[in-house]
Amino acid sequence: QLHNQLVELNGNIRVFYRIRPQLGDCKETPALSIDSMDHGIVHLTTNIGKKSSHSVDRIIPTHFTQQQIFDEISPIITSCIDGYNVCIFAYGHTGSGKTYTMEGPSTDPGINQRALQQLFETVTDRDGDIDYTINVSMIEIYNEKLKDLLTPSTSTLCIRQGEDGRTSIPGLTEQNVDSLNAVTETLNRGKKNKAIAATDANKESSRSHVIVRVTVIATNRITNRATVGRLNLVDLAGSERVSQTNATGQLLNEAKAINKSLSELGNVVLALRQNNKHVPFRNCQLTRFLEDSLNGESKTLVMVHLSPDTSALTETISSMNFAEKIG
Ligand code: ADP
Ligand code: MG
Repeated sequence: QLHNQLVELNGNIRVFYRIRPQLGDCKETPALSIDSMDHGIVHLTTNIGKKSSHSVDRIIPTHFTQQQIFDEISPIITSCIDGYNVCIFAYGHTGSGKTYTMEGPSTDPGINQRALQQLFETVTDRDGDIDYTINVSMIEIYNEKLKDLLTPSTSTLCIRQGEDGRTSIPGLTEQNVDSLNAVTETLNRGKKNKAIAATDANKESSRSHVIVRVTVIATNRITNRATVGRLNLVDLAGSERVSQTNATGQLLNEAKAINKSLSELGNVVLALRQNNKHVPFRNCQLTRFLEDSLNGESKTLVMVHLSPDTSALTETISSMNFAEKIG
């Protein structure tokens, strides 16, 4: 009963934990163990004996398959067909499993591929007076610069604010997908360009935010009225703190940009949760890009990724503190 109330109070913002399995033949004691979870509060013990409690909507069991995770969140995803704006974030330090969750291995794809496939199948199965169009964009935000991952170019994209307050991005590729093949081809094209961009800039791809943005336009054939819903699938840059004393040049700018945008994201989600009049969307490119989708009739899911590795415990605790702040 109380748990339901809590979930309702949380409104349209949800925070999940996903704890990835130990990798390879790692035999150490997992850094975290869950003692109990009740009324939305999880009680944890670390392998150095520290206990802590955090509020979180759901812990995805470590053994859950990609399909099981997708099944659980697919109602949120398909609500974009009915005009909702949806944002799904993968948060966590590098190595915690964000890209596995969103992109996944090609043999066992993650949320991006499954979401697009399901959207495509759902609109194909629906009959009636509505025509559906699905467009996909893929962008990367690195050092506060926006890049189009579907049509690579050396120029950066700019976010414009229209008179109606809505944002637009002139020049951004919107790839129409009208078949399952087109879905796979589009995601693979973006992935390939992401890898090339990383090599060219001599950077780790985990140092940028990657967003797959899906726009679903539903047009009523009789009234000619259209509704637009958006799904944003966001693989965030690694949340680890890069030591500012050792980093210089590009690395230092990179670290500052990531720290700032992740903390601005936290501020925005918190302000939305508290129904604040002023939501500080304008402070970084990530929240500017997502402003339209986070505002108004929107649903947000933040999947905070936790690692069982002892070497990552400090970062893991800092991820849980982020979840606590927005949760
Ligand atoms: P991140 O994107 O957060 O840096 P990755 O997704 O690249 O992390 O994951 C780090 C490593 O852990 C990769 O080798 C990945 O295949 C593996 N991994 C992550 N999550 C899982 C999982 N749920 N099951 C199996 N392997 C995983
Ligand atoms: Mg990654």
